[in-house]
Amino acid sequence: IERTLSIIKPDATKRNLTGKINAKFEEAGLRIAAQKRIKLSPEQAGKFYEVHKDRPFYGELVEFMASEPVVVQVLEGESAIAKNREVMGATNPADAAEGTIRKEFALSVGENSVHGSDAPETAAQEIAFFFSGLELV
Ligand code: ATP
Ligand code: MG
Repeated sequence: IERTLSIIKPDATKRNLTGKINAKFEEAGLRIAAQKRIKLSPEQAGKFYEVHKDRPFYGELVEFMASEPVVVQVLEGESAIAKNREVMGATNPADAAEGTIRKEFALSVGENSVHGSDAPETAAQEIAFFFSGLELV
């Protein structure tokens, strides 16, 4: 059983899409093992996305992620990392497959509704960034 870190981004929480997005995860066999709604400071958002600090969109990304509350969650299941990224769809909604979250809900390549960890190492790191051991059963 694998775990991954998911974020429902500001464009989606703002449009009350948390339930619809969670339904997609559950339908794909992913369990929502932990979940909370938080508002990131620009410093926290900047730290979370530090790997992208030299990319041209970094400033915009950090500002966006700190603009409204987000829902951070731990998803659990067989091959959870890959399964989650499959349900999310391509980063750019224009390239996302039919039925994926980004195809259905994302507004643009930046405001693309969800984040999902991309590998076991980053998943462990990102889960620890938001959740303490006590919050995970
Ligand atoms: P995430 O890491 O959020 O799950 P991802 O792995 O599909 O998404 P990354 O390449 O890691 O995509 O980019 C991280 C985030 O940065 C994207 O989800 C998106 O919000 C933003 N981003 C990526 N490329 C661009 C771009 N060209 N213009 C604006 N924002 C972008
Ligand atoms: Mg990524």
